[in-house]
Amino acid sequence: MKNITAVSNKVLLIDLSKDEIRTLDVPEKTRRDYIGGKGLALKLLHDNIKPGIEALSGDNMLVFATGPTAGTAAPAGNRFVIASKSPLTGIFACSYVGGRFGLSLKKAGFDGLIVTGNSQKPINIHINDDKITFEDAADDWGLDTYDFQEKHVDAGEWVVIGPAGENLVKYSVIASKKRVAGRCGLGAVMGSKNIKGISATGSLKVKPTDPAGFKKSLRIAQKKVLSHDNSGRRLKELGTAQNVRIYGSSNIMPVRNFSKPSFDKLEDISAEKIRDNHTIKSAGCTGCPIKCGKVGNYNGKKLVTPEYETIAIMGANLLISDISKIALWNDKLNRLGLDSISTGVSIGFVAELAEKGMVESDITFGNPEVIERSIEDIAYRRGLGDDMAEGVKRLSEKYGGKDFACHVKGLEMAGYDPRGCHGQGLGYATANCGATHLSGSTHSVEVDPMGGKPYIPAHGSRAKAEFVIFLQNLMDMTNASIFCLQTQYPFLEENPLYKILPKFLLRFLSSYIPKFTVNTADLSDYASLLTGLLGCKITQKDLRDVGERIFNLERHMNCEEGISRKDDALPSLMTSETDEAGWEAVDLDAMLARYYKLRGWDDNGIPKKETLTRLGITT
Ligand code: SF4
Repeated sequence: MKNITAVSNKVLLIDLSKDEIRTLDVPEKTRRDYIGGKGLALKLLHDNIKPGIEALSGDNMLVFATGPTAGTAAPAGNRFVIASKSPLTGIFACSYVGGRFGLSLKKAGFDGLIVTGNSQKPINIHINDDKITFEDAADDWGLDTYDFQEKHVDAGEWVVIGPAGENLVKYSVIASKKRVAGRCGLGAVMGSKNIKGISATGSLKVKPTDPAGFKKSLRIAQKKVLSHDNSGRRLKELGTAQNVRIYGSSNIMPVRNFSKPSFDKLEDISAEKIRDNHTIKSAGCTGCPIKCGKVGNYNGKKLVTPEYETIAIMGANLLISDISKIALWNDKLNRLGLDSISTGVSIGFVAELAEKGMVESDITFGNPEVIERSIEDIAYRRGLGDDMAEGVKRLSEKYGGKDFACHVKGLEMAGYDPRGCHGQGLGYATANCGATHLSGSTHSVEVDPMGGKPYIPAHGSRAKAEFVIFLQNLMDMTNASIFCLQTQYPFLEENPLYKILPKFLLRFLSSYIPKFTVNTADLSDYASLLTGLLGCKITQKDLRDVGERIFNLERHMNCEEGISRKDDALPSLMTSETDEAGWEAVDLDAMLARYYKLRGWDDNGIPKKETLTRLGITT
């Protein structure tokens, strides 16, 4: 078996319209500046597509990218990213997933794959080392993502769309095994290209460039991952559903289309209840020591346990407390290829529209039969489901209700209500792809997930811009590498400096001198693991620069699509005065002004020329 080091510096390009297959080289400078994963994917999009193209046209590109960690023993490193222009938001989007396709692509000798153009008829694409073949997928069109992968189990590891992607639902997903790249409708981009599935098999063995150096760093990193209370215990025992109790009791979990701060049936959907009554085993991404996924028995069916986001949005947000129903819908959503967050927010929005007499529909909160039918209506674009498949922004443009349409830049809000944690509001407003929880999410520094006192207060503007910027840059660097974001707790919180400081002093410094905390955050584990993988010295400063560069590159690309301050907005219900206990209106303007200044952007939210030049971003 041949070996490759952590990166091959090769990207496969398949142009379906021109019948062209070729390999692109990744220059050394791109590798240093953007690493891989999200950074590489965005750089490829920036360099190869013109501003203004339509997301569902042949001009759009679908990019799959792995990072240096894939195929090695780096903890929680076998994920990959899918990037493209989003049909839901009209701007750039990256979605992350832990299935096995990225690993197989890497073993086939490619750090990334670009697919562009359109096929005239449904096809599957096979990548078998350097051999690329196509097959007719007419018989596969209509299959759900699980049945498809079962039918083609011998063909390698897949990325595949379900019926929702075929029907160009604006928030359809791409699945790999039972994991999905969920956000921003990249399944519809794949569907528009008439691709049902792409398989990869490879015979290469991935090795770190400096095995001895990597092994030494790995020992330290693994110890931290396994000994930290979150990654070493709570995630293993409870999964991400552990957030239900903590965020549900902190006025953060969305309830009734984001209209209430608390849910009276919280315990019914808590991770502790799931653990006691349903969990069969832990599961997760290949080689991950954390294994945050869970499989459970729900009314006699063995199903994947829903993540926190799905429980919050399909549960409390729709006033559903039957966890077996939510698990069944999660299975249905994954099979049909729908994003659970955008689906749940769209259903909740229509329930509120119908309640207010703004649309004719039988959809109501707390009605499982109607919710279940709505999921299928959306996937197959039946009746009102056809409008719902366009997302809440377009629904509100057609039926009204913009003040309670919970999205930013067209992307439906994830499972955190900003009125319970104001930094999260700034994070949503400024995240490049819209209201995602995977860019600059401050909920875990505004509310301690372990139940203690948080780093900074949940309400008010103090310290929010500094923490949002730090976390946005950190998450972009992590998604470039491509470590799972769950490594952040053990790697950062085992910081020797934070450990010797009394907790009250660390909280005081975080709130009143936030630069102290964010500038002394310890990225040494990421730096030393990447140094061993890539065989060249990577410093903590390099990684901070990479994160800042990626975030600004994406902002710059979006500004070229017309994004500016007007789009960095929250629905008005979140910035207006509220009487609900535990909630305060978000003062977004105050936070934005400081955020733009610290970012080096002008008052309209456009990165200044000197900022882009400093980061080496060519315009
Ligand atoms: S922590 Fe969970 S999501 Fe992250 S790599 Fe491990 S199993 Fe996958």
